[in-house]
Amino acid sequence: MTTSPHNVLVVAAHPDDELLGCGGTIARHAGEGARVDILIVAEGATSRDAERDAGRRDAELASLRQAAQAAAKTLGARPPRMLGFPDNRLDGVALLDIVKAIEAVVADTAPGIVYTHHAGDLNIDHRIVAQATQTACRPLPGAGVRRVYAFETLSSTEWSDPGARPTFAANHFVEITAQLETKLAALRYYTTEMKAFPHPRSADAVRALAALRGSTCGVPAAEAFTVVRQVVS
Ligand SMILES: [Zn+2]
Repeated sequence: MTTSPHNVLVVAAHPDDELLGCGGTIARHAGEGARVDILIVAEGATSRDAERDAGRRDAELASLRQAAQAAAKTLGARPPRMLGFPDNRLDGVALLDIVKAIEAVVADTAPGIVYTHHAGDLNIDHRIVAQATQTACRPLPGAGVRRVYAFETLSSTEWSDPGARPTFAANHFVEITAQLETKLAALRYYTTEMKAFPHPRSADAVRALAALRGSTCGVPAAEAFTVVRQVVS
């Protein structure tokens, strides 16, 4: 595929992170006619057991895959690609294997814009996916990725220790006033991941963060990002 500055790739660790982080922005890009691909690196769910047993979580994993498909369709994105690495155990996988898997999708989808996790999140998979994505999108001569943004993920970014890891600093905002209800509708497919308020992965908390980020930049609702790299050439 030919690289287009308008093609978008979202690289998320777990099913639901793509929505929490940038669901409104995905809907906005798609609504503006961009091709939006979603890559989900880990399978989800299996970290709830003492030892990984994907067979035991078969039904739950299938339901997460279905939720990811339905959510992507709601946002106007292409069907998500799911790599199926072990959930919350990415620190047991060689980083190079994750980088190469992401590189293959970058080559195949040819994005100009990439969204991924923040490198200071509490969740280990988020941090590894952030690092692997930055490596996969490094600005070699001729590379098509011109803009890389890190999103915030409720129940991980804000739970990190600011003394131990870099703090999320919002310096790029996307208004999602017209997309917020679509984002919430897509999140409703993730019945096992969403909780009741005051859990941060709740509809009320998602609305509150959108309002806070919006008020920070003078609009009713927004998603916030840290700029990893923007190249103008
Ligand atoms: Zn996650």
